Amino acid sequence: MELYNSIIDKINGYLGSTTPKRYAYDPHKTWEDVGGNQLVMMKESAYELGGDNKPAVNYACVTSGDYADKDEILVYGKDLNQISGSTPFARIAIVKVKDLEGEGQEDTEPLFRAIQDIDFVKYHVYPKGYMIRSSSDSFREQVRVSKEAVRKGITFEQVGNSYIAQYKKNPDIVAVKMIFVTADDADYAGMRADAKKTRDITLTLSKILEGMSTDCHTCSLREICDEVEGLKELHFGKEKKEFKG
Ligand code: SF4
Repeated sequence: MELYNSIIDKINGYLGSTTPKRYAYDPHKTWEDVGGNQLVMMKESAYELGGDNKPAVNYACVTSGDYADKDEILVYGKDLNQISGSTPFARIAIVKVKDLEGEGQEDTEPLFRAIQDIDFVKYHVYPKGYMIRSSSDSFREQVRVSKEAVRKGITFEQVGNSYIAQYKKNPDIVAVKMIFVTADDADYAGMRADAKKTRDITLTLSKILEGMSTDCHTCSLREICDEVEGLKELHFGKEKKEFKG
């Protein structure tokens, strides 16, 4: 599963000059989860990550390469208990999966289903006092943090543990690196561009699964297929398999 590797390769270049804080995954240090959508009213809000039209980027890259060898949380910039006003924000997940294209797995479908399941996680984490507003069109993930959560000492370590705990319910997932960024000198525009590319790759996989024609000259997805190594091979491999029956 190497379609997203060229995107993962660029992440370190976006994170700014601060030295990250690193935390090993600890399932006993998750933040309380409310189990469903919650409303943090403006008057209860301490601040917003991505508020006042500041950047707020989110994407997840799936790989079977050596980009995430253990479960960990990295924080670049101020932590949740140090922020006092609207701040730029990014959350990136690097998710290592078993090699779903390995022996006996020529079919594209299990791979795509795994990617969808992984994407699903972001809609199933509800840390108390951490109201997430996602928009898949603009790749934004804006978060309103409540005064109560700040008073109780909420941190990215705890929120990151909550995300990783949710990911680890999926037996195909080997390890997760969860990166939170609030640093002023991070390249949020670069991250946003790669969030879009990640979405485009997943959409292309979905189209390939629908059984579209294999004429690259007339295909509207040619730009992304020319850029991302492995997509064309995946499409033609699938066609060959179907042709053989
Ligand atoms: S391999 Fe060619 S036909 Fe298939 S999705 Fe990519 S550009 Fe389109």
